Amino acid sequence: MYKRQISSTAKNSQSALNKILEEKTFQVTTYARPSDLCVTRGVNAKLYDDISNKEYIDFTAGIAVTALGHANPKVAEILKEQADKLVHSSNLYFTKECLDLSEKIIEKTKLFGGQHDASKVFLCNSGTEANEAALKFAKKHGINHNPKKQGIVAFENSFHGRTMGALSVTWNAKYRTPFGDLIPNVSFLNINDELTALQDFISSKKNELAGLIVEPIQGEGGIFPIPAEKLIGLKDICSKNDVVVIYDEIQCGLGRTGNLWAHAGLPKSAHPDIFTSAKALGNGFPIAATVVNEKVNNALQVGDHGTTYGGNPLGCAVSNYVLDVIADKSFLENVSRKGTILQKGLLNLKEEFPNEIKDIRGSGLIWGVEFKDAPGPIVQKARELGLLVITAGKTTVRFVPALTIEDEIIEKGLALFRDAVKSTFA
Ligand SMILES: *Cc1c(COP(=O)(O)O)cnc(C)c1O
Repeated sequence: MYKRQISSTAKNSQSALNKILEEKTFQVTTYARPSDLCVTRGVNAKLYDDISNKEYIDFTAGIAVTALGHANPKVAEILKEQADKLVHSSNLYFTKECLDLSEKIIEKTKLFGGQHDASKVFLCNSGTEANEAALKFAKKHGINHNPKKQGIVAFENSFHGRTMGALSVTWNAKYRTPFGDLIPNVSFLNINDELTALQDFISSKKNELAGLIVEPIQGEGGIFPIPAEKLIGLKDICSKNDVVVIYDEIQCGLGRTGNLWAHAGLPKSAHPDIFTSAKALGNGFPIAATVVNEKVNNALQVGDHGTTYGGNPLGCAVSNYVLDVIADKSFLENVSRKGTILQKGLLNLKEEFPNEIKDIRGSGLIWGVEFKDAPGPIVQKARELGLLVITAGKTTVRFVPALTIEDEIIEKGLALFRDAVKSTFA
């Protein structure tokens, strides 16, 4: 029925789309989606709306998810092959794909300078679940030492997900307050505070704190890279007070910065006890991982946590491929090189619009352009011109294209973004 509707109305585009959207609104009111776009397919860094006959350059990659591009042929092949073999068997039994992926995550992490003492992996289905596991593991570790050692430190501008646990450590009050009581003993600190102040807080509460969670580059909050010295200092403080450090690499990890992990450039002393990955891990197939060191794993017992779908062979087969591609020196170098093209373009834009653009932040292929005011009209204008971008925080436009985006598509997208900015402020 739906198909027929599309094909019979494909010619008179926009009104056809509006009609479909009007008739297809059986969805809860939690998203504000534009009414001029219904995505029907994608190819690498482009998306198509075949109902309206429009093509878009996609700088969103499904929110930093399709790192290897839309409709990646190899990913499609693996999905098909694995679906023909085994989709799901639950965590009652081992599967080869799950064992391989866990081993690969640990090995590649060490090989590329990430968490040096990475030891075990918990596989699940989404970012928020990966953080949920991380929080539970940190709490268990704390409680094993002292029943009061349960609290979590998070940071202003953080985003860690929407389930009740992950939401509790997500900064934006708009997301939290409608839902009443969340997990108690969460403290939001300001990452820009002096280390001495952060130390005072953490050491004064050491008997009540189980963990600290931080994104090495804050994504949803506005693309704020945390300075290395801050992470080094925080880890040192936490180690001294037996507080488990969790790095949320769900958005900034897996090659996005030009390193396998955003924390991979840090000295070993600043490596986390737990880190979480999702988004790009399945290139769009929902899969996520919580990686822990031996210290954290030692706090866990059979039955402490679980998931029905988590680590299913279908997702693991895809992730094994994703990791093979991304955890590769020349692939990562290429991300950095492409990132330089994007960075240059954005810096030029800032020069051209010094009164409208406040700041450019990021690395690799994760960038934020902070405007003086809320950039909604720019995002809308860009879409009208054929470029998809998303906001981050209140005043920032975020650029997180596929890591496989072609150089000339970066240039074309930059030109469209410039046009959007120009016409918005004309
Ligand atoms: C997207 C995101 C999450 C939540 O992931 P979901 O898969 O949407 O649950 C958590 N942390 C960070 C840093 C994210 O960017």
